[in-house]
Amino acid sequence: MIHYIITILSRFQTTKGRAILGYIISINKCSNEDLIVRVLTEKKIHTLYRFYGARHSTINLGYKIDFSIEEQPLHMNKLRNILHIGYSWLFDYKKLFIWQEFIKLLNVHLRDVEEVEETYFQVLDRSGKKFEKQNPKRVLIEEYINILENEGRLHSDFRCLSCEEKIEEDLTLTRSFYPAHKSCIYESTKYGKNKIEDLFSNKSTMLLNDKECDNLWNLILKGI
Ligand SMILES: [Zn+2]
Repeated sequence: MIHYIITILSRFQTTKGRAILGYIISINKCSNEDLIVRVLTEKKIHTLYRFYGARHSTINLGYKIDFSIEEQPLHMNKLRNILHIGYSWLFDYKKLFIWQEFIKLLNVHLRDVEEVEETYFQVLDRSGKKFEKQNPKRVLIEEYINILENEGRLHSDFRCLSCEEKIEEDLTLTRSFYPAHKSCIYESTKYGKNKIEDLFSNKSTMLLNDKECDNLWNLILKGI
């Protein structure tokens, strides 16, 4: 207990910055094993410098961390006092792989952004919790709908990307889950319209089978 209190106190004494929660969305090595790390927090993406230190805890892509920022007037701000907030599924390499794939896509999606809406942090926070018990691809497909909706990119009017006619049947989805007629864009996968309507409106993959979820996941991998 005393050790815990000392640890907490030292966290606040060594830097001026307060503890913040965030997700590591990219790690780039630079000289001497030092790292440049992007951390997604509720309202901002911080790009921070992490000095190499043998005693430093290891960090990994997608980790949720509690950290503080040491401000540097002339250089990049430093990432300090990292505390990894672990999920039990991190030891499941298949889940970790899917998680990191999505994190990489999110990093690319938000590459030129510094100020962000809370949606992205919330999506990761909810997904991280749901990963404990649910199928990871289904979790991220459902949460991706939240991202599309929040960005005004969810095409729930079901007009075809190619011919712009209303889609009644022969429905397929393209990148960013944009609906189209299967015959208009020569796609191989057809979905029941009720299944995609349920996905778009209830953010649920319940009506979709595993093969269909794999197809949707492959669309996400093309870029979010
Ligand atoms: Zn069409």
